[in-house]
Amino acid sequence: MNRKYRKTVIAGNWKMNILPSEVKPYAEILKAAAGRVKFCDVVICAPAVVIPAAVKAFKDTRISIGAQDVSEHDAGAYTGEVSAAQLKDAGAKYVIIGHSECREYHGETDRAVNGKVKVALETGLTPIVCVGETLWQHEAGASLDLVRAQVKSALYGIPAEKARKLILAYEPIWAIGTGMTATPAHAQEICSQMRAVLREMYGARIARAITIQYGGSMNPGNAAELLAQPDIDGGLIGGASLDAEKFLAIIQAANQ
Ligand code: PEP
Repeated sequence: MNRKYRKTVIAGNWKMNILPSEVKPYAEILKAAAGRVKFCDVVICAPAVVIPAAVKAFKDTRISIGAQDVSEHDAGAYTGEVSAAQLKDAGAKYVIIGHSECREYHGETDRAVNGKVKVALETGLTPIVCVGETLWQHEAGASLDLVRAQVKSALYGIPAEKARKLILAYEPIWAIGTGMTATPAHAQEICSQMRAVLREMYGARIARAITIQYGGSMNPGNAAELLAQPDIDGGLIGGASLDAEKFLAIIQAANQ
């Protein structure tokens, strides 16, 4: 079973929600139950400007803070971008890379995703690398090929000792924010193929150690069954992470 080999990681993606002033009351709810969370790591990926408030609110807890995107450049004339070093200095430990919303709205390419993963790993941030197919690709039966190609290009040129530090997230685009959660069987099939790609690239020992999350309308009602799949080692949660009680219920499902 996965818990023998790798960490279960439950990560919330707040997207463009939650004001800095709203973090504290949210944190109080999670902190009150923190003692019950033993078997998984918990991460909250906040908007860049909210990171300092989140770091402060979760100080001295086992809950880590992440960002939602990062520049592939180290520093310089890149107006509006935020570097990995800046995120790290602000207290972030994780960063989501390749989220479908960044790919779609910011024109983020596979090549850019690869550059961001490299810069994050060099800086000591843990990348949560998102891959996933559109509804059209899903219906055309192209999910597996597409996801395999995305994993390969995201990790291109990344050596094994660095790759073992990252997290992959299978996020079918048709399931994000739609309420159309993937069936546990479908999510498991794709996640096991993602692990097969890791095996081809890095060998069985590294592939067995890398956490693979599922994301796409995960909620307190479906989390336990998804998280029970052998190749699903956690969740990336958007909508349900905005409500501290719902997020807590998912964390608790991962602790069963
Ligand atoms: C996400 O945005 O990464 C996500 C999984 O969103 P939701 O849980 O709302 O589908």
